[in-house]
Amino acid sequence: MKKKLIFLGAPGAGKGTQSEVLAGYLEIQHISTGEILRKAIAEKTELGQKAQSYVDQGELVPDELILDLIRECLNKPSAHGGWILDGFPRNVAQASFLDQLLTEVKQTAEGVVNIEVPDEVLIERLLARGRKDDNLETITRRLKVYREQTAPVIDYYRQQGKLHEINGHRPLGEVTNSLKEMVKD
Ligand code: AMP
Repeated sequence: MKKKLIFLGAPGAGKGTQSEVLAGYLEIQHISTGEILRKAIAEKTELGQKAQSYVDQGELVPDELILDLIRECLNKPSAHGGWILDGFPRNVAQASFLDQLLTEVKQTAEGVVNIEVPDEVLIERLLARGRKDDNLETITRRLKVYREQTAPVIDYYRQQGKLHEINGHRPLGEVTNSLKEMVKD
């Protein structure tokens, strides 16, 4: 079984939902940088205060706020049995930082999942979800940021031979089944 996984996918692709389900199934840690940031913002921690305007506008939070956080998450004993990174890396600089970090801690990402969903479906789904950063203006910005900064990460992992493309425009259970199949070997 693969137990160290990275989930990529545009906002609304279902990577949060699917990675949470799969982490439960594999009994491994689900690490969502978006969730960590939203919690920090709600609790008004120093990280939350620094991150808030970026998250509200649909921009990426500066790398230096995220990198220490990931190092900390991967070093926790609860992550030693395996993990799914959901929402990280979001740009090529973060991906190459992660490679270095994993080498340092003698781990390796065993698979990278890209959940694909057509743009018009993404927008529909996000508008229906109604999170604070799910208004049309912020959604448009997040999709643009995704295309410009996060999509190159897909090629980065394709070149490493780690990429698994999953069709996310299907009922939730079908997508989950494909993922369970993918982690089998
Ligand atoms: P998500 O829940 O993954 O859609 O993330 C929500 C928001 O958190 C994003 O729009 C970014 O503002 C911020 N964020 C999450 N992960 C990262 C990351 N790895 N790098 C920079 N910003 C991030």
